[in-house]
Amino acid sequence: GCTAADVVAALRLAAAVVQEHRDELVRLDQAIGDGDHGENLRRGFTALLSRLDTEEVSSPGKVLKLVATTLISTVGGAAGPLYGTAFLRASAAVGDLEELDCEAVARALQAALDGVVARGKAVVGDKTMVDALTPAVSAAASVDGAVAAVLSAAADAAFEGAESTVPMVARKGRASYLGERSAGHMDPGARSTALLLRALADAAA
Ligand code: ADP
Ligand code: MG
Ligand code: MG
Repeated sequence: GCTAADVVAALRLAAAVVQEHRDELVRLDQAIGDGDHGENLRRGFTALLSRLDTEEVSSPGKVLKLVATTLISTVGGAAGPLYGTAFLRASAAVGDLEELDCEAVARALQAALDGVVARGKAVVGDKTMVDALTPAVSAAASVDGAVAAVLSAAADAAFEGAESTVPMVARKGRASYLGERSAGHMDPGARSTALLLRALADAAA
């Protein structure tokens, strides 16, 4: 199972991964957006690290809620409210559980996707983070194993989903302003979703 301390450790790893990939995410967003995605996320996860250092969090759900409120207030842009909603819904989905098992993790991922879709109204094929998160949720639901195995399958599927955005023409977000010229580049939010899931999986392994 995954305790509050495990979730905190996973988020610290996620913050390190965001830091490491900041410039790459900036470059992806420079190609089809305004170039701030890597910096937006870096700012959010840096704020999260300092809150994780100073605040007591007693359950996985409370940690996820802290992530949500921090990202909503610090990331900005389109991705801030979307990631914030994802973590808020994930928090609600796990409730007061002391430890997360694989079913709770799969449920949290489904809730996160539902939140992103409710908020952003994107569907698969629109060239957004939904193209990474949707296959990740399906993969997580189909794996019957430890939390690490569920998250690892989700991360693998998310990377494939992010790859699938390369030829797509964006229909949501800033990249949609480019029309056909958005094709030929990976969506930055799909890439960051895959990186975050990989970090969570690596931490659980
Ligand atoms: P902004 O576009 O406001 O500068 P970011 O650069 O931080 O915000 O984030 C851009 C990412 O947000 C995109 O790559 C895409 O994955 C995601 N995104 C934008 N609009 C939507 C939407 N309606 N639904 C889902 N994801 C979206
Ligand atoms: Mg941007
Ligand atoms: Mg922006």
